[in-house]
Amino acid sequence: MWYAVILGGGSGTRMGMDRNKILLNVSGESMLVRSIRAFLPFVSGLIVVIRSSDMAEAAHLIQQIRTSCPIQIVAGGETRQDSVRSGLNALPDSCSKVMIHDAARCLVDAKTIANVMQSVDSVGTGVASIPVTDTIKTVDEDSWVTSTPDRKTLRAVQTPQGFTKQLLLDAHLKAMEDGFLGTDDASLVERMGVRVHLTEGSITNMKITHAEDLISAERIIDSQQAAPLRLRIGNGFDAHRLVENRDLILCGVKIPYELGLLGHSDADVATHALIDAILGAACAGDIGKLFPDNDPAYKDISSMLLLKKAMETIADRYSIVNADITIIAQRPRLSAYIEAMRNSLAAVLAIPLDQVSVKATTTEGMGYEGRGEGISAFATVLLQ
Ligand code: MG
Repeated sequence: MWYAVILGGGSGTRMGMDRNKILLNVSGESMLVRSIRAFLPFVSGLIVVIRSSDMAEAAHLIQQIRTSCPIQIVAGGETRQDSVRSGLNALPDSCSKVMIHDAARCLVDAKTIANVMQSVDSVGTGVASIPVTDTIKTVDEDSWVTSTPDRKTLRAVQTPQGFTKQLLLDAHLKAMEDGFLGTDDASLVERMGVRVHLTEGSITNMKITHAEDLISAERIIDSQQAAPLRLRIGNGFDAHRLVENRDLILCGVKIPYELGLLGHSDADVATHALIDAILGAACAGDIGKLFPDNDPAYKDISSMLLLKKAMETIADRYSIVNADITIIAQRPRLSAYIEAMRNSLAAVLAIPLDQVSVKATTTEGMGYEGRGEGISAFATVLLQ
């Protein structure tokens, strides 16, 4: 179960004001509330860590977010690291993975969050980062250059930084025992000898530190809101035959059943319908054109890889608003696998879970699906 720890500890001194900057409005909404909203679609709960003198005001702001997602406010510590530890200590036992995020990065986007989560799911760590555009020098105390690292090997790291909960708890415990103070959570994990994986962040995921940053952030938000909404809708349909000695895979999830779907790839009929809906909405052909079924490269390939490739072909022009899939199967019963299927698709599409719907129905015994000869699927996708 995913949780986010939102850090709102800092003071407003660099902003030239005595108020905590994250309680300040950016284009009509506080940085704290903007950051919380960004994570709501992705997590089962949030812990907000803030200095005790700001807790009442933070609670008042958070109350205005209408959500059923539990949000707990805890008091921060002396240092950022202390505050993260307070947040980690407040996590429930049911939480297994956690993202740490600075509320001052209130422009964090869904893609950046999804990238971090996907990385933690597959390798245990995920840290948002961007390539460095400036040439970086290391210097001595008197500002004499000591080296110029190859820029290609450098990344600027942001938050969210995601980890399995136990790993981050261990790293914080070790740092505390050793009296080590890091500037981010990844560095605590790194010194445990654990490799940390970086993911693609975003230039707009800036840390609002100075008063000028506030103006830039408002410009970014205003331009996002002013961008004309170009919506495109697409539909997809597919059907495959059920046969013996094949796995039944739907939306990337292996379903226990005595039969499986027959096809050149893994015959994931639901994902094929979804791919066709995506390509259809973008006027980018269809799955057969993109991945010919006489091409040996696609023999038995996971359709989730095809979905990823299809997304790559449209990613520079479109993003997904939402996707809705209906799977038509008389047997097996699919209700127990719906959540796993949604999670699997959301991870590959890099969108929040509430933008992916998967439904299953029978045909009450009518037609080929009803006789158990095959499974079909419809998909509808909205792109912007
Ligand atoms: Mg197909």
